[in-house]
This record gives sequence, C-alpha cells and structure tokens, in this order.
Amino acid sequence: MDVEVAIVGGGMVGASLALSLRGLGVRVLLIEGVAPGSAAQPSFDDRTTALGNASRRIFESLGIWNEIEPQAAAIRTIHVSDAGRFGFARLRASQQGIDAFGYVVANRVLGAALWKKLSAHSGEILLKVPAKADEIEISDSGVRLTVVSDAGREDVQARLVVAADGAHSSVRAAADIEAGVEDYDQVAIVANVATDRPHDGTAYERFTPSGPLAVLPLFDGSYGVIWTVRPDAAAEVLSLDDSSYLRALQDRFGWRVGKFVRVGRRASYPLKLTRAATTVATRTVLIGNAAQALHPVAGQGFNLGLRDAAMLAEMIADAGGADIGAPERLQSFAQWRATDRSGVVRFTDGLVKLFASQQPGVGILRNLGLLMFDLAPPAKSALARVSAGFGGPTPRLARGLAVGGTAAHDEPDLGS
Ligand SMILES: Cc1cc2nc3c(=O)[nH]c(=O)nc-3n(C[C@H](O)[C@H](O)[C@H](O)COP(=O)(O)OP(=O)(O)OC[C@H]3O[C@@H](n4cnc5c(N)ncnc54)[C@H](O)[C@@H]3O)c2cc1C
Repeated sequence: MDVEVAIVGGGMVGASLALSLRGLGVRVLLIEGVAPGSAAQPSFDDRTTALGNASRRIFESLGIWNEIEPQAAAIRTIHVSDAGRFGFARLRASQQGIDAFGYVVANRVLGAALWKKLSAHSGEILLKVPAKADEIEISDSGVRLTVVSDAGREDVQARLVVAADGAHSSVRAAADIEAGVEDYDQVAIVANVATDRPHDGTAYERFTPSGPLAVLPLFDGSYGVIWTVRPDAAAEVLSLDDSSYLRALQDRFGWRVGKFVRVGRRASYPLKLTRAATTVATRTVLIGNAAQALHPVAGQGFNLGLRDAAMLAEMIADAGGADIGAPERLQSFAQWRATDRSGVVRFTDGLVKLFASQQPGVGILRNLGLLMFDLAPPAKSALARVSAGFGGPTPRLARGLAVGGTAAHDEPDLGS
C-alpha cells in the first residue's frame, strides 16, 4: 500500500491529527494497536483530561465538540493550596473575562467522539485498527513499515511517518531519536469520587509533600481525583478498601468539597518526564507523548500534543502537492513548535520541582508566591492564558479556521 502520511498510534493525539487531515486530498493511513472502545485501550482509559480553551476551539473546528460538550464540566474557578500552610490562590474565570478556564472530560468520551467521526470519514482516512506498525525502516526517499493485524501482514510505503505512539514510541527508536527520561519518583493514582454535595465548577490543586493532589469537577456532579504519592506508598493506596481510601483522601484533602462518599475503580500511572532530543528527523515527525510526556500537574500534556497535531495538519495542508516529508518542511514544523513545547515543559517541570522541594525557606517562599499571586491580577491573567499555549504561531484550527485556510501564521490568539 502506498500513502503520503502514515500515522502510528490512534490515541488522543494521533486520532486528532488523522481527523484534522480529512478532506485535504492527502492519502493518510492511521494505524492503532488497540480498538478505541476496548477496556485495554491505553489512551482512552478511565482518566479525565482538562482541556484548555484552545483545545475546545480545535475540537469545535473538527466538528466533535457538540459530541463532547454534554459530558464536559466547565472549570469556572481554580483553587491552588499548599498542604499545611497558609498560602492559597483562587482564580475566577469571570474575573478574567472568560466563561471557563477549560473543561474536564473523560478520556473515553474523547475517544468515542474522535473515532465516531473518523469512522464516518473512513473513505478519506484509511484506518487499520486493531493493527500494529512493525519493522519500520526510514530512508531519505521514504518510509517502509509492516502493518500486523489478524488479517495478516501488509507492507506500507509512506512519504512521512508520524510518531503518535506514546512515550515508549517505537517510531522514535526507528528514527534513531534519543529521548531523555527523568523519573519524578511519584505515582499518580486516579479515581472518580462522589461527595455529599454537588460541585460548583471549582478545580482544586493541592500541593502535598508526596506530590500534587488534583480534584477536578466532572459533568455528573462528582470529581476526578489525581492523587500523587511516592512509589513505595502507591501499592498501599491502591489496595485500600473503598472506605479506607475515602478516609485517607479526606485526611489529605480536607473538607472543602464536603464529605467523600463513593469511589470508583482506581488506576495508577508512574510519573516521568520523557523528552525527545528533537521532534523531526528524516521523513519523521514526533507529536504528543512520543515527543514529550509530562507530569499531569498542570494538565498540559494533551493540550500541547493537540497543538502539535493541529500545526502538523497545517504544514501538510500547505504542502499543496509537493513532497510532504521534505527536510526543510519538517524543520519549519520543528521551529513553529519549539517555543510552545519548551515553555510548557519548563513550566510543568518547574511547578513539580518547586512544590516538591523540602529545602528550608522554599515552603515559605511558595506560600508568599501563592498569596501574591492571589492578589496580583496580571499574574492571574497570565495563568489564565496558559491554556492557549506558550508562544509560537497559533494553529488555524485553534482560531476556528479550516486547516487548509490561507491565514498567516503570525497572528497570536490567546484563546479566550
Ligand atoms: C494521570 C494523568 C492525567 C492527565 N491529565 C491530563 C490533563 O488533564 N490534561 C492534559 O492536557 N493532559 C493530561 N495528561 C496527559 C495526556 O494523557 C497525554 O498527553 C496523552 O494521553 C498523550 O496522547 P498520545 O496520543 O500522544 O499518546 P498515548 O495516549 O500514549 O497513545 C498512544 C497510542 O499509540 C498506540 N500505539 C503504540 N504503539 C503502537 C504501534 N506500534 N502500532 C499501533 N499503535 C500503537 C497505543 O495503543 C495508543 O493508543 C494526563 C496524563 C496522566 C498520566
């Protein structure tokens, strides 16, 4: 089979890219190892994702926000605190002149919306699922890979291969791109939890000595809890019976949202920063977690990966029949994404390290910082704009334009 673009990985980011490429007349193949509705799907699992306003805008442009919105909870207030200390900050969307800072959605809902739309356009985007990409060989003239499925093995040739295959990317390895890995020595334990009163759209981030604890509003009135603990405590928290877990969570979080009364299935994620040395190489582009997998503290990983996908779609649309995998085109893509990527990585990593620090004096500085932050409107406005990205050109899809539109790349839009 001959295609122009082979996307390996149809998780949150790869599926979004494939959808962005429909209607361009480009021959695109999407290969995904695990069926989207399967319980074993690693991207569309029990987690919830906080989508920023730019991501909402991209999903609107892709025509799937109407599917997502009924099951999304708007974040109207953000409350940040440091366990056992006096400082806290409260940010209200209304004070920033925006309706919401973002929206919390279950990954399964995102997966269902993305794949429903992709299936409706399967005439335009070739879908291989469940199927694995294997034996990836990259050369100056093109990419060869084998698609392995129950139907057998099929050879594919492509002008460009896109690595959307997650933090342990095999495409990245085939392209000989090194990745640095920094272990945060933390494990996130994720669960949905109900309280004895409905939420008011506030998202809480509480920094504790073992790591951050996020309590995010969900569309059904309950909360998505991301509780970060040290690796040696993770097995214990996972094995607690429901009432012991709820008591332990209440001790850790306090009573701001009322009494925790019910908890669903718990799942754990070891937390690391994985960062590829470069996002492009010969006939290869890395996006999403294959390019950079982040700590979830600031809810930025998918939002950043979606901007990777939207910008890559734009680059492919602009090729206008010329070689999509030409080196100068890939270099331009890497440059477009560099500022946003390094800004988000630095911001997220810095936040984890600042609040993990046990050095004398840092705790007090942190709390003064939070208090000052609470009092300083410009600082709050800056944070409110984090969801739009950290600079560089804003993808057309995030500006409500078609991916193949003619707008220039130099018009920043901070996504209110
Ligand atoms: C606890 C937690 C909470 C988070 N919360 C947020 C949040 O609130 N906001 C936010 O923006 N981000 C959040 N993130 C980050 C977000 O989940 C990731 O950035 C996102 O999942 C990355 O998507 P991806 O498609 O790049 O990679 P993945 O989700 O890893 O998907 C990769 C896909 O590739 C497929 N695949 C792999 N190898 C092959 C192969 N050889 N052939 C075919 N298919 C293959 C896999 O089956 C999978 O479907 C969170 C992360 C964690 C751990």
